[in-house]
Amino acid sequence: MTANIVADNYKRNIDDIIFGKMMVRSYGMQAEARILIIDENKNVVVDNYNSYVDRKLDNAEVRSSLEGTPKSGIYENKVLQLTVPITSNYATANEIIGIVLISYSLDQVNESINDMKNDIIKISSIALIISLILTTISATSITRSIRALAIGVEKLTSGQLGYTIKHRAKGEEGKLINTFNDMSEKLNRIEKHRKTMINSISHELRTPLTSISALIDSLLIGNNGKETYDEYLRDIKGEAERMGNLVKYLMESIKLEEMTLNLKDENLSDIIYDSVKLIAPYANKKDVIINTNIEENLIIKCDKDKIHEVFLNLIENAIKYRDINEEQSYVYITLKKDINNISIIIEDNGVGIDHEKLNKIFNRGFRVLDDTLTKTDGYGIGLFIVKNIIDRHNWNISIDSTKGIGTIFKIEIF
Ligand code: ADP
Repeated sequence: MTANIVADNYKRNIDDIIFGKMMVRSYGMQAEARILIIDENKNVVVDNYNSYVDRKLDNAEVRSSLEGTPKSGIYENKVLQLTVPITSNYATANEIIGIVLISYSLDQVNESINDMKNDIIKISSIALIISLILTTISATSITRSIRALAIGVEKLTSGQLGYTIKHRAKGEEGKLINTFNDMSEKLNRIEKHRKTMINSISHELRTPLTSISALIDSLLIGNNGKETYDEYLRDIKGEAERMGNLVKYLMESIKLEEMTLNLKDENLSDIIYDSVKLIAPYANKKDVIINTNIEENLIIKCDKDKIHEVFLNLIENAIKYRDINEEQSYVYITLKKDINNISIIIEDNGVGIDHEKLNKIFNRGFRVLDDTLTKTDGYGIGLFIVKNIIDRHNWNISIDSTKGIGTIFKIEIF
């Protein structure tokens, strides 16, 4: 660029040698370079350092430019030489009347490159040290987390359920430790629940077993008439049935804990009809009339078997807890679709439940035990199962009941 400007200025003021010298000196200072103007005979005409004036210069760059091609070259890695031809405006087209040669010392550039090299080495060394420190820190923290987890797993396998890892960590290790602690706590809860259950099962089973054993002992002593045998055997059968119910209760409890839903589009109306059909013989036996008002073909996403179980439980209860003093016991079942929801109502004119007991009605093991009900078999798990299944479907169940009047269960699907 500088060479071209110098060439241009020179040829425009070719007759003014003083201007030429001043111009070359000024550009030379600006570019911190040596600038020579050489005529077509390779003689130096202007040199901003003066020492080359009138000397002949003949090298590859000079020759190339005199033939019309600018050229550059580097000498001993220290000097950059660049030449451009000066073409005359007055002479015939493109006649070369001289050249501009700029020689530039690369010392400074080399120095800068060396400085840069040094900087790069310094920066890389610092980065290496920092990354080494970080790797060591994170490796130590990972090792600590893994050690803490290994201890945790050992504690769990040795039976110390509920063991929590106190070590705090961030990121993925932290998440792993939290998951471990959650798992340990859950295992502990399951184990505690299992122990309580085994305790109550043993307790519940011991009572009928003791009575059966006592009844058999009495029969074995002495000569008993047929009547005594009949009576004792009836009692033994009663106790055996109690045990049967208990086993059923246990199986239901286990089933509930393992419950997973199989959701599909199902015809809800048909599920209700099927449940009524299945329970009809029991209703007949107990002289209860079942009335239905069911909107046909309502398709809904649900677990067919579980919802079937819900209706069986609710309808069975409505029959089981009928009021024997009523002239006629009824169960009314309604399925209807409103704008915002679908509702199923199961209503009976049975014995009803005290208002203050209603808030506990869906609890596991809750039974309304009073004189009228002590003879009715059950373990208070039916409604607990019903509530669980309805909750899992994200539906809603509510109860309204008045003692001596009857009970209404309402399931809402939004
Ligand atoms: P279970 O019938 O085995 O005792 P449930 O969980 O089905 O257990 O019912 C819990 C209690 O709620 C019953 O013991 C009964 O007292 C009361 N109950 C349930 N349904 C009705 C109903 N339709 N009418 C009156 N009482 C009811």
